[in-house]
Amino acid sequence: MTVRRFKCRICGNIYSPLEGEPQKGISPGTEFEDLPEDYTCSVCELEEKGKIGKNYFEEWNPTKYVCRNCDYVYDEEMGEPQRGIAPGTRFEDLPANPDDYCCPVCQIDEKTVKEIGKVSKDAFSPLVEEPEKPAESQGSAGSPPS
Ligand SMILES: [Zn+2]
Ligand SMILES: [Zn+2]
Repeated sequence: MTVRRFKCRICGNIYSPLEGEPQKGISPGTEFEDLPEDYTCSVCELEEKGKIGKNYFEEWNPTKYVCRNCDYVYDEEMGEPQRGIAPGTRFEDLPANPDDYCCPVCQIDEKTVKEIGKVSKDAFSPLVEEPEKPAESQGSAGSPPS
């Protein structure tokens, strides 16, 4: 089963049917298509950007997933060639069994291994990249300290 997530073009908020929006009475498992016609983006609402309806959302597929335990990022484009996972391997296609796939960073962390054991892909969340933000002056190239 493929999870279809949608992203607000205004604020970058992600609607995921895995989570729904229980605070709005939308239960987990509700597909984006099945949202009420008067659905509006909760984040834009909070930020007072106005009522941003479903037509401002576009389908969004994460290509990076972050380990909630250690912040390791699995990047589908890169794969993990050193472990035999070819570049371009979709996260959803990784084995769910921690014996077959587990977080490579947690795996070598003694404390984690002792307390949790192998960290399976269940511990990963899609990585939402920040919407493009204006370049900040600090650390920008070409301006040596005076
Ligand atoms: Zn929004
Ligand atoms: Zn990890």
